[in-house]
Amino acid sequence: MQLVFASNNKNKIFEIQSILPDTIQILSLEDIGCHEEIPETANTIEGNAILKANYVTANYGYDCFADDTGLEVEALNGEPGVYSARYAGEQRDSDDNMTKLLDALANESNRKAQFKTVIALNLNGEQFLFTGIAEGQITLAKSGNQGFGYDPIFQPLGFKETFAQLPLEIKNKIGHRGKATQKLIDFLKTEQ
Ligand code: IMP
Repeated sequence: MQLVFASNNKNKIFEIQSILPDTIQILSLEDIGCHEEIPETANTIEGNAILKANYVTANYGYDCFADDTGLEVEALNGEPGVYSARYAGEQRDSDDNMTKLLDALANESNRKAQFKTVIALNLNGEQFLFTGIAEGQITLAKSGNQGFGYDPIFQPLGFKETFAQLPLEIKNKIGHRGKATQKLIDFLKTEQ
């Protein structure tokens, strides 16, 4: 089975290929000659994952999966959500995004939040969605320097540390992306 992962992130591609059996070959966008920017114009996380997977299947004819992630803050009615990457502007700067979020929650006692990853898979003419959620809360200040994005201000449920203070193996195990990816992998193993 050949499947395109609609991502240019070599780490993500290597990671998922290393978990899958050799009978499933993961191709990158580069491998199929897709060098243009794939539109991410939907207004939901699910919608963007579907847009990306459908773009590859429609334009290149491959079975494909794509992921999209957002941070949903309860007191902000789910914001920044699908706009997480560009919450503080088109410069897509993590530090600016975190500062804006901490400011927005300055007088807020409800700091509940969750990361949500959705993976859309197009396989043999059908579409499947896999969701992974990591619940937690937004801290009062940034702590830790591992990971990326909002990791320094996200404290997962049951931990005293932020994602940016936890080892990557733990983040992968309890994290949104890891959970959604595991669901995809379990599904693909039964489909071979
Ligand atoms: P993407 O859909 O994986 O590109 O994620 C969109 C945005 O959500 C990123 O630019 C980050 O700001 C944020 N984000 C996604 N995953 C994580 C994570 O694991 N930790 C912290 N922030 C994340």
